[in-house]
Amino acid sequence: MSSGSYEVIVLGVGAMGTAACWHLARRGVRVLGLEQQGIPNALGSSHGYSRAIRLAYFEHPDYVPLLKRAWALWRELEEVSGQTLLYPTGCLYLGPPDSALIQGSRNAAQLHGLPHESLDRQAIADRFGQFCVPDDYLGLFETRGGTLRPELSVAAMAGEALSHGAVLHGNAAVSRWEADANRVTVFTTAGETYHADRLVLSGGAWSSQVVTGIGVPLTVTRQVMGWAWPLKPDRFRLESGFPSWAIEHGAGEFHYGFPMLADNPGFKIARHAPLGEVTTPETVRRTPAPGDEATFRPALQQFFPDADGPTLAIRICLYTNSPDGHFILDRHPSHANVAVACGFSGHGFKFAPVIGEALADLATTGESALPIGFLGLSRFATAGEVPGAAPI
Ligand SMILES: Cc1cc2nc3c(=O)[nH]c(=O)nc-3n(C[C@H](O)[C@H](O)[C@H](O)COP(=O)(O)OP(=O)(O)OC[C@H]3O[C@@H](n4cnc5c(N)ncnc54)[C@H](O)[C@@H]3O)c2cc1C
Repeated sequence: MSSGSYEVIVLGVGAMGTAACWHLARRGVRVLGLEQQGIPNALGSSHGYSRAIRLAYFEHPDYVPLLKRAWALWRELEEVSGQTLLYPTGCLYLGPPDSALIQGSRNAAQLHGLPHESLDRQAIADRFGQFCVPDDYLGLFETRGGTLRPELSVAAMAGEALSHGAVLHGNAAVSRWEADANRVTVFTTAGETYHADRLVLSGGAWSSQVVTGIGVPLTVTRQVMGWAWPLKPDRFRLESGFPSWAIEHGAGEFHYGFPMLADNPGFKIARHAPLGEVTTPETVRRTPAPGDEATFRPALQQFFPDADGPTLAIRICLYTNSPDGHFILDRHPSHANVAVACGFSGHGFKFAPVIGEALADLATTGESALPIGFLGLSRFATAGEVPGAAPI
């Protein structure tokens, strides 16, 4: 059954896909978004009530211009949707002086003139007494950082896309797509066929199946998020000024978390472990398993003794890791009319509105004025060879 013709089809309407639909629709482009689950959903990578946004990007300073644009777009989305999506709590980074988190964040902040404060042991204790870190740790506090609401954000972007005329179908799984120089054809498992001039592939953890032919391996990992009820809850509430935070401890071991939010009880803490348990979206154990609590409880005990209360929830999420931990955002190497966004490696959410803007550019003009060159496929140019994993 042929089910219609569009200018652009977006395959996968999660964080990046809804953002692409929003930008395309508000430019007046006839766009169809196809999502195999609900919009939003809790089976991919964009759920769990909170996501960090930070600008002093230790992963690589080249992300900072994109982050500045993303911040502005989040604020714009809040204005047009009437929703509060970003709590500008600031972000506190803690770690040994030579840690990638401290050094990389400071480097990015200095290079791009981002407001930040360096904190010694005394300043950490005076300003952020909830944190209990070793005496030799340093702190860096970034005011222009905070907490995003992922489910609300996806819903807000979907709402804006719809109000500008986008057609979004949930529970519409794509079984395959094909492209020639003039058009793309997308087939769903329900037997529908859609045609368009261009295609955007934003399939998250399913990208290995969805984005064929780019020659770059993607590794999906199972990630555990924990919520505990603090012994002294008032110390960790959003209203008390508690910041978003990340701590690097041990060799490249990170934990991170957020202030407590009124509509999501408990203190959230999780380990950032891109090379964690390898899985697939089809086979992942989605219910909590023995051992999951051990991914966050020792860090809770060590760094937040006042939050070390009973567990309220454990939830599972998926990272889709590229070989070097950096995003893949480009045109498909064999199809100029297909744009690809994948491999967000556990740190993509904060960028969603600017990734959507870049995808809208790629899907309409084939190029973007945004500084996305460093995220292109050419960095994996030598066939069969990929750079070694970088700390992210
Ligand atoms: C535990 C955890 C913590 C994180 N913390 C942060 C953080 O603090 N800050 C940050 O910036 N980032 C963070 N991230 C990363 C960030 O959330 C992800 O990079 C981002 O959400 C990925 O968005 P996406 O659009 O690629 O994937 P998704 O939002 O999962 O969207 C992909 C969509 O494609 C759909 N799809 C796939 N295949 C098909 C098909 N064949 N047909 C139709 N639909 C299809 C899927 O159902 C899915 O809804 C975290 C991730 C996790 C798991």
